[in-house]
Amino acid sequence: MELLTATESWTARRRRASELLEAYPHAAEMLGLYLALLDAWEPGLERLRERPPAAGEVAAAAVRELLPAVLEATLAAGPKVLGEAALRRFHEADLEGLVDGWLAGEELPTVDRYLARAAAGPVLEAMPALARTQPAVADDRHCPSCGGLPQLAYFGISGESLVSAPRRLLCSRCNQSWIYPRLVCAACGSEDTGRLPIYSDSERFAGLRVDACEVCRRYLLTVDLPKDPAAVPVVDELVAIPLDLFARERGFQKITPNLMGF
Ligand SMILES: [Zn+2]
Ligand SMILES: [Zn+2]
Repeated sequence: MELLTATESWTARRRRASELLEAYPHAAEMLGLYLALLDAWEPGLERLRERPPAAGEVAAAAVRELLPAVLEATLAAGPKVLGEAALRRFHEADLEGLVDGWLAGEELPTVDRYLARAAAGPVLEAMPALARTQPAVADDRHCPSCGGLPQLAYFGISGESLVSAPRRLLCSRCNQSWIYPRLVCAACGSEDTGRLPIYSDSERFAGLRVDACEVCRRYLLTVDLPKDPAAVPVVDELVAIPLDLFARERGFQKITPNLMGF
């Protein structure tokens, strides 16, 4: 039985983001923005829980109920460049079209992707029924619920001492997780273990590592909860920038960037 999942309460996310903020000055701005977003999401989600949108209305609901607060949080706590660009797009862009594009898996410019994901991601997570679609690609390298790409992999904590918990992938779109084999590339499915290098910096990041693939040149981060039981995968993944840079210098590209664009 798995005792910890990646969908811990937001209390755990707040606690972890505050802890990491102390421990990793390099990620302070990003974690500050993440904490501001957690506060910004809550009132809009409360309103949506009272009057849940229909399946086709996710973009309209996210733009109406969450996006204004997301913009405010970004201006208050985010990097200045991001805040200015977000403000510009908020006034210029077809915001519902932009969120619909993100929901459909379109490649979007960085700021558009940030706005769409920050507004619609929490809606899909809070109301999983809205995320359920007929995925365009149905394989185990895409979310079985919405067809999204994996943001990260994690190992949970097994309740039984001799049994290790399965590897899971966490969806970048709706935050559902699914079981995925341990020694298989999460991007291309290669099982050639000689070409699946792992990079870690266990002194700085006890529970984090890079799982890369020399076949497709992609990578993702793995959060190893047995090595760092206090970790909250979706928050810890945000502080791994030095590991991201290490992987990029070696010519690997992340399967999909995280909310903050890394
Ligand atoms: Zn999903
Ligand atoms: Zn691969």
